[in-house]
Formats: sequence, C-alpha cells, structure tokens
Amino acid sequence: MGGRDPRSRALRAWLIKMARQSGQLTFCPRCAQVIDLDLPGRHRDGPAMGHILGLFDGGEELDPDNVRLEHTRCNSAAENRQRVVRRRMAAQTPTASRAW
Ligand SMILES: [Zn+2]
Repeated sequence: MGGRDPRSRALRAWLIKMARQSGQLTFCPRCAQVIDLDLPGRHRDGPAMGHILGLFDGGEELDPDNVRLEHTRCNSAAENRQRVVRRRMAAQTPTASRAW
C-alpha cells in the first residue's frame, strides 16, 4: 500500500539509498533473509517499504522512524492480512474514493 503516493515512493528510495550507503547487507525483518537491493520493487524478492508499527496499530505511514525495508513478498503477505481488517473497517466507515 502507499506505493502510489509520491512521498511514500521517495521514502522508499531514501531507505534503499541509506541501505546502500551503509555498505552492509540488508536483512528482511520478516524472514531474516538478505534483500537484494538491485532487484526492482515489483520483484517478489526486491526491496519494499514496510512499517515497524503497522498502520492499523497507529503507526505513521511516512515517519522515517517507522519504515524499514523488507521483501516485497513478505510485505505483501503482511499487507494481505491487514487488507482483511481494512475491508471490515471500510464496511463500517464510508471512505473517500480510491485512485484504483
Ligand atoms: Zn523477507
């Protein structure tokens, strides 16, 4: 989620830049495997931006202290679980139209 937001994209690019500059391997916090920063974000093993404190737990989507890199596949798996919750909430709360 958030991938279409330019601020979110910029934050992800910043995370990747910082990870590259560190000169150290980046490990996915969800599966503890190395993330290949050279893979495109759409690749399932590529770098995606995840949130330390989930958005539904009150985490800030664009807080640099609340974001981290994780695999796209690991991020998607986590977000699919969140999406179920979101759908339930959407059924109760009318929301603005989404871009897609
Ligand atoms: Zn992973």
